[in-house]
Amino acid sequence: MTETDCIFCKIIQGEIPSTTVHDDELVTAFRDINPVAPTHILIVPKKHIEDNNAFEAGADDAVAARLFAVAKQLAQAEGIAESGYRLIMNCGSDGGQEIQHLHLHLIGGRKMQYPMG
Ligand code: AMP
Ligand code: ZN
Repeated sequence: MTETDCIFCKIIQGEIPSTTVHDDELVTAFRDINPVAPTHILIVPKKHIEDNNAFEAGADDAVAARLFAVAKQLAQAEGIAESGYRLIMNCGSDGGQEIQHLHLHLIGGRKMQYPMG
């Protein structure tokens, strides 16, 4: 998938609406359209990185660090930092990745079991 037909690139460029909860120079975050828990936010690099395999060590280090920093910040803002939450990054077919633009799911607000199907 290229940037031109990528749903998340279109959201980043404002061509598709989303419920934005965070925006900075490296990442944006918006609510998942099909939430699986009371809090379900996708934290997305502005750079079109297809998946974890496409991460470039060195060049993308700041992006990786920011994804986790924003996850912590949003967990606090959502009031789930203490109760707990799950961070999920799916990669590839067996990982269940549907959108080929890397993203971190921040999921919380209910008790979850590990592993899941
Ligand atoms: P994944 O399977 O890890 O690639 O997750 C893709 C996620 O994107 C799913 O949880 C979808 O519900 C979500 N999603 C798909 N389209 C949109 C959209 N337009 N706005 C917000 N979330 C979306
Ligand atoms: Zn993209």
